[in-house]
Amino acid sequence: MIDLHSHTYYSDGSLSPSELIAMAVESGIEQLAISDHDSIEGLLSLEKMPKELRLIPSVEISASWNKQGLHILGLNIDTQHQGLQAFLKQQQRSRQERAMQIADKLAKAGVTHAIDDVGYLVDSQPMVCRTHIAQLLVEQAYVKNFQEAFKKYLAKGGKAHIKEDWFDLEDVIAIIKSAGGQAVLAHPMRYGLGTNKLKALVEKFKMLGGDGLEICYPNIQPGHKNLLATWAKAYKLCGSQGSDFHSPDKAWIKLGKFAAMPDDVEPVWTRW
Ligand code: AMP
Ligand code: MN
Ligand code: MN
Ligand code: MN
Repeated sequence: MIDLHSHTYYSDGSLSPSELIAMAVESGIEQLAISDHDSIEGLLSLEKMPKELRLIPSVEISASWNKQGLHILGLNIDTQHQGLQAFLKQQQRSRQERAMQIADKLAKAGVTHAIDDVGYLVDSQPMVCRTHIAQLLVEQAYVKNFQEAFKKYLAKGGKAHIKEDWFDLEDVIAIIKSAGGQAVLAHPMRYGLGTNKLKALVEKFKMLGGDGLEICYPNIQPGHKNLLATWAKAYKLCGSQGSDFHSPDKAWIKLGKFAAMPDDVEPVWTRW
């Protein structure tokens, strides 16, 4: 039981790192990657490493490629790496600036208090995510649920969408490698790219030094899993797997619950 993708309240998850670890132990997980959005603060907050499972220190970094936003997992990184820490500080500032740009657009779209409320989020959340703003919109009854918050306001085409503007994919892979980690393209089918464009991305990802593709995750279609496995073999990339667990409230996503890694793909955990 290996789960290499999960979040705590140091980004948009709901559990503390130790609560998440306790839940993973309870679920029989042997290796757990905590991979908060652009943050390693949760990992740094732990006073000691757990004994009951192997914790894989990780991070999910936002990147840009041809104006497309991507999530790149840095697995098994050195959390003490100075360059990585400085890089993530910059990501935190970018997220704070983006949140205020979103607030401006929300205000113009008639969401009163948006500037004040998002301003408060920026000050109180260690790493402000669109999820936090979605939560606010639900609480204030501007929308019925998260899906609507994204569709109406925060996602592409929404009234308060800000185009993705992160460090280039190349820089993100480089910083992960310099911190001793494995760079893995997270949830490849969730970007809404067509097959040809996605294949071009996988090819580029390999060329830039990427190590693996996240192949096994909840709700991926079997056909898509097979396609990713074929590309992993063709481009000599490893396979990774993870639940992308955020909260026990989302009961349909459980730690360690996803389809099995195809036999002929090299699992990324053989690298450590
Ligand atoms: P951010 O990294 O701040 O842009 O926020 C991205 C996060 O928002 C993702 O990791 C998901 O947790 C969440 N998210 C993105 N799109 C949606 C959506 N359509 N519905 C619900 N949650 C979403
Ligand atoms: Mn998230
Ligand atoms: Mn992601
Ligand atoms: Mn994630």
